[in-house]
Amino acid sequence: MEDELAISVRGLRKAYGDNVAVAGVDLDVRRGEVFALLGPNGAGKTTTVEILEGYRQRDAGEVSVLGSDPGLVLGSRPRGSRGSSRTPRRGAADWRSRVGIVLQGTGEFDELTVAEVVRHFSGFYPEADDPDRVVERVGLGAKANARTHTLSGGQKRRLDVALGIIGRPELLFLDEPTTGFDPEARREFWELIRDLAAAGTTIVLTTHYLDEAESLADRVGVIAAGRVIEVAPPNLLGNRQDALATVSWRTPDGTPETAQSATPTALVAELAARFGGEVPGLTVTRPTLEDVYLSMIGH
Ligand code: ATP
Repeated sequence: MEDELAISVRGLRKAYGDNVAVAGVDLDVRRGEVFALLGPNGAGKTTTVEILEGYRQRDAGEVSVLGSDPGLVLGSRPRGSRGSSRTPRRGAADWRSRVGIVLQGTGEFDELTVAEVVRHFSGFYPEADDPDRVVERVGLGAKANARTHTLSGGQKRRLDVALGIIGRPELLFLDEPTTGFDPEARREFWELIRDLAAAGTTIVLTTHYLDEAESLADRVGVIAAGRVIEVAPPNLLGNRQDALATVSWRTPDGTPETAQSATPTALVAELAARFGGEVPGLTVTRPTLEDVYLSMIGH
């Protein structure tokens, strides 16, 4: 069972002074799944993810990432905990090479070109991917010889992604990966994520784009005020599938009509009979992921 989990978190806590950023988070991410963390600004997503990445020290709780405690393996265990000799620090490079990280906005390396930067980073990993292939894969083929400071914002994010995947990670963290992408670039990026997931990479992403979570994630976890409110597949979140449907149409004189229904099929059949065929302006909708998300976080 443990082996089926890429990440397991129990009772995770982290405060900055009096400000409790993470207030007891429990979370499991299965191997091979795409898991999206959603939550308002300041909810504690980045803090949680940075603890999982081993960049931040926790105050309390149990954390396992690819079978190791990042705090122990990287030598930054929580205050007051006793060290374990079973996870030697020399495992740090090995563990690090299995975890890919795309942080919010780096992507600039002075006078180096895109190809040079990716090639340089490939040298850090024992089983790195082919740098030219990765540059193509993130859609920067035409910019391979451009100096990184000349890239657009979206192109810099693509370079960040290239650096996150060059080591062929088993687990990839993406922090707001498509911020600043144009719609086409987002779709291309989603394809890349699907490819990586299909090849078995476990992916944890934070995003503020509900359509991104819906399109990519096997499961989403909603965090607010440092706590996990719910974890569910996007189509099941907040009992979305059981919510009333909204049926809208136009009367013969063109007036818009709307009804809420638990049995929209029956209502549409009744309308079709009433109109003797096609119902003008007919739409049937359920609450969107954004609707249920906003109601969950109290808006
Ligand atoms: P966003 O969606 O805006 O990125 P988030 O969910 O990632 O937000 P965090 O960045 O984890 O939220 O922040 C959680 C809380 O911790 C916030 O109140 C924030 O002000 C605080 N915080 C985060 N980092 C630090 C820090 N280095 N020092 C002090 N407080 C911090």
